[in-house]
Amino acid sequence: MKKILFVASECVPFVKTGGLADVCGSLPKAFDKKEYDIRVIIPNYHAIKEEYRNQMETVYYFQMDNRIYVGIKTLTLDGIQYYFVDNEMYFGGLVPYYDMFQDLERFAYFSKAVLSALPLIGFRPDIIHCHDWQSALVPVYLNTVFQGDPFFRGIRTVFTIHNIRFQGTWDVGHIQWVSGLPWECFEPGRLVSPYQDTSIPKNSWNCSMMRGGLVYSDYITTVSNSYAEEIKTPNFSDGLDDILKWRSERLWGIINGIDYEEWNPAKDKKIYKNYTIRTEKNGKKANKVNLQKELNLPENPDVLTLGIISRLTDQKGLDLVNIIMDELCSREINLIVLGTGSENYENMFRYYQSKYPNKVAARIMYSDDLAHKIYAGVDALLVPSAFEPCGLTQLISLRYGTVPIVHAVGGLRDTVEPYNEYEETGTGFSFNEYTAWGLMDRINHASWLYYDRPESWQKLVKRGMEKDWSWANSSKIYEDLYSRM
Ligand code: ADP
Repeated sequence: MKKILFVASECVPFVKTGGLADVCGSLPKAFDKKEYDIRVIIPNYHAIKEEYRNQMETVYYFQMDNRIYVGIKTLTLDGIQYYFVDNEMYFGGLVPYYDMFQDLERFAYFSKAVLSALPLIGFRPDIIHCHDWQSALVPVYLNTVFQGDPFFRGIRTVFTIHNIRFQGTWDVGHIQWVSGLPWECFEPGRLVSPYQDTSIPKNSWNCSMMRGGLVYSDYITTVSNSYAEEIKTPNFSDGLDDILKWRSERLWGIINGIDYEEWNPAKDKKIYKNYTIRTEKNGKKANKVNLQKELNLPENPDVLTLGIISRLTDQKGLDLVNIIMDELCSREINLIVLGTGSENYENMFRYYQSKYPNKVAARIMYSDDLAHKIYAGVDALLVPSAFEPCGLTQLISLRYGTVPIVHAVGGLRDTVEPYNEYEETGTGFSFNEYTAWGLMDRINHASWLYYDRPESWQKLVKRGMEKDWSWANSSKIYEDLYSRM
């Protein structure tokens, strides 16, 4: 039996702000329980629903370093045991993340608490699998502060990059202070970039927790093959290409899957009408009309309806959308937007909704319920991201018979096969050059197919639905990786 501990800052169904939570919630379930004992540890945020918090039991509590409280709670759900690091001061707020200055301290604490707790809770993992910068100090602590303790001898680590844009970056002084790591960790090439650009005054912000994870873990993975290549280049690496090139033998790209139970149009209780690959035509129309009704758009099953479900940040290509909005709204098209994020994008979509009330519906909020309804009710989903490590929304779309229109980058390139009208192949539309024109051109192509070649559109939809983006394939690759370690 292989014992593996996932360490992450979010996990479905407890707390979610993005795709990381989906992955940590669904991947552990994909392994054979007879061979793998996979457990997950996250902070015990106050933001976790009462329903779960009430079920938690305390396993142990202690003072870490004789000065700071650590509680470990647990609960088992769908056969997976979850642990929660409890500390009111750090995790008692209403949201999982604060500002970076505070988060550095909170997640340094979290990473150290995870390791400190292990000898006390009766679980010694063979492998610790860390996700994103919030858990990046785990391999660093393990190989420095905890190195002398026989309990930890032989524990291996994997670090998965879900998004290299967020690294937990600050100056050496602050990170040293919050982590209490020994000075050797801050030599250039460890947590500190060896290439310091002294011409930028910001150069004191040269220390990143994620870099530590990349340097000190045994293996590194990221969430698609294309992204694994891209982050070895300066354009995509946010300053970490040196270390990723250096460790490229230990860097694997493994594409994410989605939870095929949660995302299943045949059984989804959140959508208006269930459908399968055989009944998608009428099923999607029924969902579309109900969605239009709910969002105060004119009810019309035949209008090409586009969707966007996204964090509203500059990663997601919304500047391109802004440029084409007037052009788009001069056509027979609806656009339904669900998202929260930067104020400028939130206001941008509010503005277009008021300018085109019969065509645009923007819901500036986070709603899992509405997300399900949109995946089921729209014809195509726009994902024009400037960069995209994997992207889950296009995978969910394919599952729901919704055609993805994407920028061919990162995981979007690896999962959406461009439509070829001569050979009748492909599952979506993709543009190579990151321009508004590129996006508009693909929407035009999609629109032509939808209105003028409805049978080909239907085939395209079905080809997408036939693809398997569950964890079945990728979990095998993780098994291969774990067994090598
Ligand atoms: P990222 O992790 O960069 O945010 P992904 O495409 O990997 O992007 O994952 C986004 C996940 O979050 C998807 O499951 C998507 O459905 C969900 N999501 C994004 N915004 C919202 C929202 N406003 N309401 C509900 N779900 C959302």
